[in-house]
Amino acid sequence: MKNTITILGSGFSSLASACYLAKSGYDVTIFEKNSTIGGRARQLKKEGFIFDIGPTWYWMPDVFERFFNDFNKKPSDYYQLEKLNPAYSVYFDVNDYITIEDSIEKICKAFEKEEVGSSRKLMKFIDQAKDNYNIAIKDLVYNPGVSPLELVNLDTIKKLNQFFSTIKRDVRKEFKNNRLAQILEFPVLFLGAKPSKTPSFYNFMNYADFGIGTFHPKKGMYQVILGIEELAKELGVKIKLNSPVEKIITHKKNAIGVISNGESFYSDIVLSGADYHHTETLLDSNLRQYTEKYWNNKTFAPSSLLFYVGFDKKLKNVNHHTLFFDVDFDKHAQDIYDKPNWPDEPLFYASFPSITDSSSAPDGKEAGIFLIPLAPGLEDTPELRELYFNKIISRFEKLTTQNVTDSILFKESFCVNDFVKDYNSYKGNAYGMANTLLQTAFLRPKIKSSKVKNLYFTGQLTVPGPGVPPSLISGKLSSELIIKQLSRQN
Ligand SMILES: Cc1cc2nc3c(=O)[nH]c(=O)nc-3n(C[C@H](O)[C@H](O)[C@H](O)COP(=O)(O)OP(=O)(O)OC[C@H]3O[C@@H](n4cnc5c(N)ncnc54)[C@H](O)[C@@H]3O)c2cc1C
Repeated sequence: MKNTITILGSGFSSLASACYLAKSGYDVTIFEKNSTIGGRARQLKKEGFIFDIGPTWYWMPDVFERFFNDFNKKPSDYYQLEKLNPAYSVYFDVNDYITIEDSIEKICKAFEKEEVGSSRKLMKFIDQAKDNYNIAIKDLVYNPGVSPLELVNLDTIKKLNQFFSTIKRDVRKEFKNNRLAQILEFPVLFLGAKPSKTPSFYNFMNYADFGIGTFHPKKGMYQVILGIEELAKELGVKIKLNSPVEKIITHKKNAIGVISNGESFYSDIVLSGADYHHTETLLDSNLRQYTEKYWNNKTFAPSSLLFYVGFDKKLKNVNHHTLFFDVDFDKHAQDIYDKPNWPDEPLFYASFPSITDSSSAPDGKEAGIFLIPLAPGLEDTPELRELYFNKIISRFEKLTTQNVTDSILFKESFCVNDFVKDYNSYKGNAYGMANTLLQTAFLRPKIKSSKVKNLYFTGQLTVPGPGVPPSLISGKLSSELIIKQLSRQN
């Protein structure tokens, strides 16, 4: 008889593991608490507009290719990808922005215009970042975080100093121009910590940004979720929606199934792609590996205040991805990481997918997504959301020299309380636990429970970390450990 596997959640990591496990011949069932799949990468449709609720940047296309290739498929079997040009632009003042185009040669020109001599330094920086990308993304991140020895090889020994310096130190040493330095520090924000807390080795994110580029799946990131769902279904995975897991059933320290909507479902393995902290609360307290103190002491990636806005006209002076770095990032970062607080003047990010993808909004209209990074666990009220919407929209209007307030057809918001309610997210974090030096690889929460046999974890809180590509990799890593255990037993 086939081994049975229960998976909690239907985010990228859970869907990816489900595919690998079903391909290995196991009977796989996903339990998703929400009414749609996708987790943080769900979609909002309203009045002819389509918004990605979570991820909007498609980076590291090679990771997606490698995933589909494991099933003898290609991304293009499931969705259409376009390389964006420009990739994005960054505002620093009124009508004053730098545009990042789709090749390193063009980016060098933009750098040189800003600071003579910077393009030579940039090429050197990106060469090193490429080297790290090849070590990290093609190899290192595919380790399950079981042992420190996974990080030790000839390549990494040569780079040891890069684990003890930081992105900020390296960038600022070479680039004195604050605008260029800010642009080079931006990609590691995806890893959830400040550039001053992120090891230099993570500069491979800069290669992902400048060396490989920014892509857009037609109709949005949710098409990738739908593609993986299609693959999972082809492989025989069953998906149960509106099925929150209320308890992980154990017997003599073995996970033997789950309770969902009051009903018991038994299986040989339980794998959770739901947030790690939440999953452990589904166990009796003596079976949890990590204490509340442990979680409280960790550096979490930020939460976010998000707005999904339908505009009644096309906007000007913006690109598909536009960053607003016109205020002091260090001050905002303090409010996120050091003294959790609503920031006085937040940096923000805006995405207008309808600029390049006509399926995102009705003709002549624009779909806008606005994101302000915030400390997890902040008080979240309708009044605060409104206050911050007004703050960023008035800045947006000033910086891009246009009126948009009168063209707002509707706006929806999503913040700390929604992250907790919709995803059981610890303190409402948006994208898991940050990749700092002490939260990297074998130092992250483990894929395999050390207290409960047959219980595994996947997703952005375990290895390798936050982001869509790492979540896909995490799905692969957890399934490999499960397959290893089951094939030893059978
Ligand atoms: C606003 C935002 C912007 C982002 N931007 C980017 C980006 O541009 N590019 C990028 O690469 N990454 C981005 N990320 C990060 C990326 O989206 C995540 O790292 C990734 O989607 C996480 O996938 P996951 O499978 O680990 O978790 P999730 O997607 O959170 O999946 C967990 C699932 O478990 C379910 N669940 C929870 N509790 C239970 C339960 N008790 N029973 C059953 N199901 C349960 C949840 O409903 C959810 O479906 C962003 C994230 C956010 C929030």
